Amino acid sequence: MTTELTHYINGKHVKGTSGRFADVYNPATGEVQAKTPLATVEELNQAVADAAKAQKEWAAVNPQKRARIFMEYVRLINRDMDKLAEAISREHGKTLPDARGDVQRGMEVIEFCIGAPHLLKGEFSDSASTGIDIHSSRQPLGVVAGITPFNFPAMIPMWKMGPALAAGNAVIIKPSERDPSCPLMLAELWTEAGLPDGVCQVVNGDKEAVDAILDNDTIQAVGFVGSTPIAQYIYGRACTNGKRAQCFGGAKNHMIIMPDADMDQAADALIGAGFGAAGERCMAISVAVPVGEETADKLIEKLIPRVEALKVGPYTSENDVDYGPVVTAQAKERILGLVQSGVDQGAELVVDGRNFNLQGYEDGFFVGPHLFDKVTPDMDIYKEEIFGPVLCTVRAGNYEEALKLASDHEMGNGTAIFTRDGDTARDFASRVNVGMVGINFPIPVPLAHYTFGGWKKSGFGDLNQFGPDAFKFYTKTKTVTSRWPSGIKEGGEFHFKLAD
Ligand code: NAD
Repeated sequence: MTTELTHYINGKHVKGTSGRFADVYNPATGEVQAKTPLATVEELNQAVADAAKAQKEWAAVNPQKRARIFMEYVRLINRDMDKLAEAISREHGKTLPDARGDVQRGMEVIEFCIGAPHLLKGEFSDSASTGIDIHSSRQPLGVVAGITPFNFPAMIPMWKMGPALAAGNAVIIKPSERDPSCPLMLAELWTEAGLPDGVCQVVNGDKEAVDAILDNDTIQAVGFVGSTPIAQYIYGRACTNGKRAQCFGGAKNHMIIMPDADMDQAADALIGAGFGAAGERCMAISVAVPVGEETADKLIEKLIPRVEALKVGPYTSENDVDYGPVVTAQAKERILGLVQSGVDQGAELVVDGRNFNLQGYEDGFFVGPHLFDKVTPDMDIYKEEIFGPVLCTVRAGNYEEALKLASDHEMGNGTAIFTRDGDTARDFASRVNVGMVGINFPIPVPLAHYTFGGWKKSGFGDLNQFGPDAFKFYTKTKTVTSRWPSGIKEGGEFHFKLAD
């Protein structure tokens, strides 16, 4: 049976009125299990108008009281952890431990936001000039929007909801139409935690809803996460319309393996970072760069049996599986098309997952694991983000060549180096032209009190996601300069004179 999903508006689940829907698949079986309503411009604008009214009262609630709602929210997320994870796995396909990680990393940002009263404090200069004081305060923007991708349906909506709400804004979330159930559940939990109705609205939709967000004059800021071409488009249109925008795009994360690295540790790290969640992570390592032929030969020898041993299956499998299906049939087709291009362009496919077939799940969107060796920078599998279980190896002659590869790629989300040499690690961290760096650590997603953001075509706009940056992004600074007459007691009376 196909379930008709809803929007979540003014504290309630609301049916769509457009008559347009997107299919939500069970990626393990290929069946359509639900339909996401696709909002009209009018539905979106009404949700924004209601949010604008609700925001005024929310902004008047003091930050400490708001923080108590966040504390309750964290309790509810923990209570419903398994339900949320199941909803994610059912629509996305990732394993349950991965789905729990998705919820956990989002929740950590909510926990960080409990400290919002501190982050919202302004500055004060006593006697900045004679008799003059200056202070600044951070005020909410009003209504803001978050447009989120399919691959982290809990974490990224929470990255958008948390700081925006804690700063006193109302937020419109437009989740991916592929897996919107978890974001809807997250909105419902806000209501249960005590958030006033209308302050967090989930409006489902496609390009029509996104364009309506970008053109809506009430919306003051847009936070986007998704693929690079859409990030660039949204950034351009949001800025033209006078909004604040931060738009995070795709990735092509390189891991450099120096000759002195612990090769087993490096190979294990590549398996987790390259194939976890079927490679559908913006911080996945998709390019291994061993330095020197000998390192490359050793690494490939260690990787082949590990890649061949990967267990692929549905999240419901009794046996532990390493990763599940990819999200849609189109995603599968695109990945296999890129694999074919790699073969055609001369890369060596040393583990070939093309004929992978899972008995009983023949119509599922499973993709077997692939390992390429001798990939070169001119090949499409190197230039493009594959976003699947495909690891490419580019052999570098020396350290400088490896550093240049990671630095010159047009994407700059994350990167890592595996070495036992502190000097090399330090040099790499300092010089590489990429936003997030791991040293003997393959997926360097910063914790909630730092910030997350890629460089180059992985991120457009100013400031990063979550952490202190997010509080700057979701507030505007007001600066007040004040001069008060000073009172001078003369003959028992107060006389006032203005300071110089
Ligand atoms: P996507 O760009 O297809 O979709 C993201 C959002 O944009 C969705 O809400 C979707 O409905 C909307 N959208 C899609 N096409 C649109 C269009 N033509 N006009 C307006 N809106 C449109 O991305 P995805 O496939 O859902 O997610 C995977 C991508 O996200 C990968 O490229 C991955 O690297 C990236 N990602 C980046 C980060 C990061 O922080 N940099 C994090 C997670 C994912």
